[in-house]
Parts: sequence; C-alpha cells; structure tokens
Amino acid sequence: MNMTDPHIAIPSRAPSATAADDTVMPFEVAALDLRGRVVRLGPVVDEILERHNYPQPVAKLLGEAVVLAVMLGSALKIEGRFILQTQTDGPVGLLVVDFTTPGQVRACARFGKDGVAAAIAAGKTDAGALLGRGHLAMTIDQGADSSRYQGLVALDGGTLEDAAHEYFLRSEQIPTRVRLAVAEELRAENGGARHRWRAGGIMLQFLPKSPERARLADLHPGDAPEGVEVHTVPEDDAWVEGRALVSTVADVELIDPAFSSERLVYRLFHEPGVRVFRASPLRAECSCSRENVEAMLKSFSQDDRDHMVEDGKISVTCEFCSANYLFAPACVPSASKRSMTSPMSGRGPNDSMML
Ligand SMILES: [Zn+2]
Repeated sequence: MNMTDPHIAIPSRAPSATAADDTVMPFEVAALDLRGRVVRLGPVVDEILERHNYPQPVAKLLGEAVVLAVMLGSALKIEGRFILQTQTDGPVGLLVVDFTTPGQVRACARFGKDGVAAAIAAGKTDAGALLGRGHLAMTIDQGADSSRYQGLVALDGGTLEDAAHEYFLRSEQIPTRVRLAVAEELRAENGGARHRWRAGGIMLQFLPKSPERARLADLHPGDAPEGVEVHTVPEDDAWVEGRALVSTVADVELIDPAFSSERLVYRLFHEPGVRVFRASPLRAECSCSRENVEAMLKSFSQDDRDHMVEDGKISVTCEFCSANYLFAPACVPSASKRSMTSPMSGRGPNDSMML
C-alpha cells in the first residue's frame, strides 16, 4: 500500500443513495485540508422531542442543540460525557444536551410558558429571540476521577450556529462553519397524519496539514518599522472555497430521508475529492437510574430531604426522560451534610432534576 499518495490507497465508490438515520459520518477533503462531519437524526430526535411535548419553537430550538452536541461530542477522542448547556435571559432560559460516548444522547429545556406564548403570538420565535442573552457552556466530563473541561462562549441574541463559530474562532482558533436544521415531517400513519421530528447538520473545519498552508499561518507581520505597510495574511483559498460550498447547503439536504449524508458531501466536494469514514450510530437514552437518584438524595442534608417529603414519600422526576422515582424517607439516610443545590427545582411531587 502506498501511504504517500492517499488517492492510491483509498478505495473509491459511488455515494450511497439511502440515508442512514441517527448517524454521524466524518469526512475529509484532503486536497483542501478540510475535515467535517454530517449528523442525521430521525427516530432519536423524534423520541426526545415527542416525549417532552414542548411548544413547537422550543422543541425546534432544542433539536438544534441536540444536533450541535452530537456533532461536537462524537468528535471526542476520549470516553466520557459532553454536555452542551445554554443559560440565557430569554423565554427559553436553559437548554441541556448530554452526550455520552460513543453515541447516547438525552436533552431537555426549561422555559417560561408565558414568555414562549408571547413570543409565538408576536411571531418572534427565532433562536436569538427565544434564547436572549447569556452564555453557551460546553463541558467534557471524563468521570469522577478526572477534571472537567469547560469552554464558554457568549450568546448575544444570535443563533447556536453563531455561538459555535465564535467558540471555535476564539477558543480553538480553528476556522469552522456549522449548519443546523430541524423540521417536522408529516407522514400518513394508521389512517391519520403523524408529525415526526427530523434534524441534521454539517460541520466543516479548516485544519491545514500541507506545508505551504501551515507556513501561511506562521507569516505573522510582527513589529514592522514605521511607514512600512503591514501585510495581513489573506484567508486561505482552500478555506474560502470550503466555506462558500458549505454555505450552499439547504435545510432540506440535512433532513430529507431520501438524500444521504454521502450524497451531500459528494455534491459539495466531488471536485477536490472527498473521503468518508464509517458512520457511527446514535441512540436516545437516558442514564438516570434508581441508584443514581438515591445516591443524590443521600448527598442532601436531612433538612433538605425532609422538605421533599409529600404524602409520606419522596418523589423525584428525571427532567430528561420524565421517569419518576419514589422513595420512603427512612430508606435514604444521610451520607453527608451537603446542602441541596441546583439542578433540583421545585419541591414536592414535581421535584425535577438533572442527573
Ligand atoms: Zn432520565
């Protein structure tokens, strides 16, 4: 096998015609030093959004966050969790998407009912209007023994796409373009019509490996003597081309079950040549369990737990999947003196939590 010329070693074939739902497919355009991934969600995003039954614009926004989290989380080289969370002052105050490697995802939102109803009535249901101002946090959690890494970027009345671009530009210094799409599909079923959520996205990054492009990045003008015109490094042609191509992606190309991820990247990059990698499967699954909830309850103070007792029971509902857990107060003795803090919300039978 000739490793110096990848075009000889890599077999080529026509792009697959059928779309594989609930997958993420990495790809590489070696000639332009571009890498990326295509996310395509069918039953996974439908299951998450249907179960919550949020108002339509909230569901759509959470769907976008799910695509973004899957896109970034599936790129992790380590085993662990990737948590994408927005905290903002708009009608939708909180979005949380929790991705566990290699492909498990769950998500939920918190929002003000009146605020969302008012936004719908005013026709202001774009992401910027629903989120408002605040921040987007991305956390990588490798388990109890490892440190957590957190990246933060401001949300300033823009979209999740805007925030992702800003994050990669400032924190990672990687030119990045992200496209996210969510829509409801109407399908005939059992004599009636049933809405199904679908979602998809594409991410493209410029990661120069070839010597001439890497050198370009080193050409910092430095301290030029007075009067000498400073030349700024022009944007690399390969990135200009890649960015322009990805801007042509239509929402329908990210969602249409009849248009595969492979056909999408082939349409965009067949001229320079595109290599696709094995797509990995995704599934909607919550990681909550009776053991987890019990461990959390034990970490609260006796006083906090006493306040949770209603009708002789402690009832806890998982905010991600709505699973309900009931405990007899005597069965959860204190393990420590830690006080109850967020993310618990409310008291009584509707106590909700993020595990
Ligand atoms: Zn759950």
